[in-house]
Amino acid sequence: MLPPARRVPVRTCVACRTAGGKRGLLRIVRLPEGAGVAVDPTGKQSGRGAYVCPTSACIELALKRKALERSLKITLPEGFAETLRSTIPPESAI
Ligand SMILES: [Zn+2]
Repeated sequence: MLPPARRVPVRTCVACRTAGGKRGLLRIVRLPEGAGVAVDPTGKQSGRGAYVCPTSACIELALKRKALERSLKITLPEGFAETLRSTIPPESAI
């Protein structure tokens, strides 16, 4: 079922530094030409990406540490934190 493993880039959560994969990390992508950032559930959006575990703990930590901003070299737009929070499933589902 799984595609052959070849040259999979190492994806590391910007908050807890855990290399993800199994459960999947949430990809945040910096859109080209200063168009801001977006959550990229498909992982197919082109642009510089950063990854964070889809848990509120890691998202909050990433926001608090400005880890995504550092990683993507951007300032997160107003309201993006809320967007990010809204993309993760409720804690009870994890
Ligand atoms: Zn994490």
